[in-house]
Order: sequence, then C-alpha cells, then structure tokens
Amino acid sequence: MSQSAAFIPPGATLGVLGGGQLGRMFAQAAQSAGYGVAVLEADEAAPAAQVTGIHLAARYDDPLALEQLARECAAVTVEFENIPAQALRWLDARVPLAPAPQAVAVCQDRAQEKALFARLGVPCAPHAVLPAGADFGAVSPGLFPGILKTARLGYDGKGQIAVPTAADLPAAWAALGGVDCVLEQRLDLAFELSVVMARGRDGAVVQFAPQQNLHRNGILFASLSPGAAIPPEVAQAAQAAAATVAQGLDYVGVLCVEFFVLRDGRLLANEIAPRPHNSGHHTIDSCTVSQFELQWRALVGAPLLPPRQHSAAVMLNLLGDLWFDAAGRQREPDWAAVLALAGAHLHLYGKREPRKGRKMGHLTCTAASAEAARQTALRACDLLGLEPF
Ligand code: ADP
Ligand code: MG
Repeated sequence: MSQSAAFIPPGATLGVLGGGQLGRMFAQAAQSAGYGVAVLEADEAAPAAQVTGIHLAARYDDPLALEQLARECAAVTVEFENIPAQALRWLDARVPLAPAPQAVAVCQDRAQEKALFARLGVPCAPHAVLPAGADFGAVSPGLFPGILKTARLGYDGKGQIAVPTAADLPAAWAALGGVDCVLEQRLDLAFELSVVMARGRDGAVVQFAPQQNLHRNGILFASLSPGAAIPPEVAQAAQAAAATVAQGLDYVGVLCVEFFVLRDGRLLANEIAPRPHNSGHHTIDSCTVSQFELQWRALVGAPLLPPRQHSAAVMLNLLGDLWFDAAGRQREPDWAAVLALAGAHLHLYGKREPRKGRKMGHLTCTAASAEAARQTALRACDLLGLEPF
C-alpha cells in the first residue's frame, strides 16, 4: 500500500479475505464506526458472512469475485494467512491492500519466518529446514527430541508431530504427507506469551502489553492479561522483538508474534500471524481500543491510538468440546449461568456445527485485578465443565 494513500472516511466499504471469526470481529468493529464490509469467503454460513453487507461466496482465487472486491472496496485486508499469494498480488495491484502480499507470504511459511527471525537477530528455536527430499542423515542430533512441523498450513497444533529420536524422523515426515517441513528442538517451556501490535502506513507502531498464553493439546486454552508469569524485562524484550519483526516486514496492519519463554529465562520467537490473533481477543473488552479497531484504523489510514488497558482480563476459548457431554451426546452449554457472572463477556461466532477442537467462541472475564479476573474465569470453567488452570 502506498505511503501517501489518503485517509478513507467512514461510509466507504472495506474488504476482508476470509470469513472466520477474525473476519467477523473485524467487520463488527469497522461497522460500528460506519464502514461497510465485504467478505470473500466460499462458505455461505461462515461467521463473517453472517454479518457483512456484501458476501462474495467464492474461492479466494476466483477472478470475478476478486474483480468485484477490488471494485467495491476502498481497501482490503486479510483475516487468514493462507490466501493464495497470486490472489493477493492481483488485488495489491488494484486496490490498497494491507498487509502487503510479501509480508503475508513470509507468515505462510515457517521456514521463511525462521529466516526472517535470523536476519533480524530475533532468537528462535534451534531448527532445521527440511524440504521434501532432504537428507535426514544431515540433521543435527542436538535437535532431538524434536517437533516436526509442516512448513505451511499448520494451525492449532495441526500439522505437527513429536519426533523423539533421529530414527523416528522418516516415519514422522511420511505421516505429515512428505511435504516441506521444519524440525524444531522440543523446548523446555516455562510459559508462552504473545505480542499483538499495529503498524501504520507511516511506520507508527502501537502495542498491547504481552499476554500469557496457556495451550492445551496444541490449541490456545486461555490468555491472561496481565500474565502473572511475565517479568517486566521479558515483556519489554518481547515488545521490542515484535516491533523489530514488524519493521523488518515493512508491515502495515495488525500483527501478532508468539514467543516461548524457556525455564532458563531465554525468550524465543515462535511464529507470526499477519492479522489479529486469538490471544488478543480480550482487548475487545479490556482495552480502550481493540485489536480489531486497530486493524480497520491501520487500513483506512486513521491515527493508531495507543491502547490503554482499563481492566485485567482472562480470555477462555470456547471449543466445540463444550457442546458434548461425557457420553458424547450433544448439548448446549449453560449460557444462562455464564451470563450471570459479573464481568464475563460472551462472544459466540455463529458456527452452527460444534466439533471437538473447533473454536466456537470465547469468554473474556474482566475485573479490577488479575486475581479477580482469574477467579471469575475459574467460576466460568466450573460452569462450563472445563478443567481449571
Ligand atoms: P500452531 O499455533 O500454528 O499450531 P505452534 O508452532 O505455535 O503452531 O505450536 C503450537 C503449540 O505447541 C505452541 O504454542 C507450544 O505450546 C507447542 N510447541 C510448539 N513448538 C514447540 C517447541 N519447539 N517446543 C515446545 N513446545 C512447542
Ligand atoms: Mg501458534
């Protein structure tokens, strides 16, 4: 997107590629400021398609749909990193698009992300890039036990497999379909955190405080903000590294960098999302400006106001598992009980079919202190049948 692009005023239509919950919450934020939103998404019933004025029900690379998007929209963004690069480049030549195709391309590929971290001097996990047909014999024995990850298209722990020893590598690689992979050393994590931030066309940067992220089965379970485990110097180092990444990509829009903190105190970058992130959902209810408001502000060239957190928050993901009882029978979670919790903010994404591991919604518990937010979240866990944290 050109640096000199003019401010796009409310009333204009903004486009979003991808129709999941991130697109839905982007649309809701932009709509509340008077923007129209058009979504390109093949699924008729997708979360964002339910709330946007214009739904182009087509594949991301459908030429007619892309043409219509470019025609109707003053600017376009993404809610999903795996939009085909060709579609992004086509749009970029015709309509202001943020983030830029090159930045999204880096985030589509773990090998490119790791190369970027290395170029920028941002430490990440010891790893080896294993393109299809690589010589497994040349892999450093120091990387075992490791985790093999597909270079592309992995999410929520999918596309990953544990590799205890070098001898297990060929079978693990075959199990992932023999595609390009990255092998990472399995690290001794003390905790995980992420930094959500926005960067404007003019290079201005605003950041949220890092949140502490708890994963279960490779899927984000909860985000804690503030995160009790995060020392101030680690928070500062993570924010500085995230800003370095955004500058290194010449990024425009909202971006999230996930980090590991090891038991020995080291901070390592894990991966980059070129969009708002699940761990930043609490900002809707805990901050003066949410990650989705920053997304539309960056897109339209409005000032990026530094967000101020007015409440401590714990965000719990609501996975499809909650829609099934112990015997596997489908049920509806007890929303009435959850809605009786003061400070609990329910967000459901309008997905009709609950499935185990599917992100159906989230619940943000806000309070005056981190401990009080945690207590509300623990009560919510109890009501929903979630293991406490
Ligand atoms: P994705 O979020 O795309 O599924 P990640 O690479 O972020 O993939 O991995 C998901 C989770 O798995 C991480 O948040 C972390 O909990 C765990 N994990 C990933 N890589 C490692 C590693 N090298 N060592 C230890 N744990 C890891
Ligand atoms: Mg991740």
